[in-house]
Amino acid sequence: MNATLMDGTALAARLRGELKNEIVELGHVGLATVLVGDDPASEIYIRLKHKAAEEVGIAAIDHRLPSTTPEDQLVELVEQLNEDEEVDGILVQTPLPEQIDEARVMRAIDPMKDVDGLHPFSAGQLYLGRQTLVPATPLGVMHLLDEYRIPIAGQRAVVVGRSPLVGKPLALLLLQANATVTICHSRTEDLARHTLDADILVAAVGLPGVITSDMVKQRATVVDVGITRTDSGVMGDVEADVADVAAFLTPVPGGVGPMTIAALLGNGVRAARYRRGKLAFPRI
Ligand code: NAP
Repeated sequence: MNATLMDGTALAARLRGELKNEIVELGHVGLATVLVGDDPASEIYIRLKHKAAEEVGIAAIDHRLPSTTPEDQLVELVEQLNEDEEVDGILVQTPLPEQIDEARVMRAIDPMKDVDGLHPFSAGQLYLGRQTLVPATPLGVMHLLDEYRIPIAGQRAVVVGRSPLVGKPLALLLLQANATVTICHSRTEDLARHTLDADILVAAVGLPGVITSDMVKQRATVVDVGITRTDSGVMGDVEADVADVAAFLTPVPGGVGPMTIAALLGNGVRAARYRRGKLAFPRI
């Protein structure tokens, strides 16, 4: 193995330490989570987020609704949380049951409390080259690239995956940082032709082994966002022998995963700073 493994666990622990101090200064930061239904993966994510929030001193408020919850009832809860002074950030865990229009729920969240960065206002800011609250996984990836001093400006970045939560916002952040960005997806023809060009390659697909060593440029930086739970544990999107080709690689687990949680907590603190007037929130 030649690649330096990018240690998301260590960096996330450091970031959480820094956040603790800010939270003490702010006095109170409240994060409300809403879980609809009993999807096992969502349960795990909510549990992890609560544990991490409590460790840094964020008051995490857990709302659970049955899978049969009507859309109007969920929107009503979000509106109550918007008005609740104790709540600085609102996170509605996705996926939502099929009777619920996810876009309507995201639109109902006060953009100042939108810690997942999925409100059209937050997404629009990013599109315009500005940042308010940005989805946590892309933000976590950018922190990791920064920590390992990976050059971005002028480099070729290829993002495989175009979801609104990961691929698309990450491509926009890399573009803001002056990379030349290509976005690939399930309809991309000859994926390797694109990935082989990448100085920074991000895999955000959810298909173990979709990136093999012959698809990676020598000395590239490879970020593996994928998480697939299998009987033999958690798998990323990137084959293990990519470590022989890449210069930097994020491990799974221990790479992007912990950074996502740390960045989410960071968004909670940012939301609290907006709400206390300590950081200017752009006018809507
Ligand atoms: P998603 O919404 O399912 O998006 C997957 C993307 O991959 C889509 O854009 C899809 O293309 C593309 N894709 C599917 N098959 C492909 C193929 N054969 N070649 C190229 N592209 C392909 O998933 P997501 O929410 O973005 O998450 C992606 C992965 O990251 C999942 O494994 C998820 O569990 C993981 N994740 C990890 C973290 C973390 O903290 N580490 C956080 C969030 C997500 P189309 O758009 O054409 O369908």
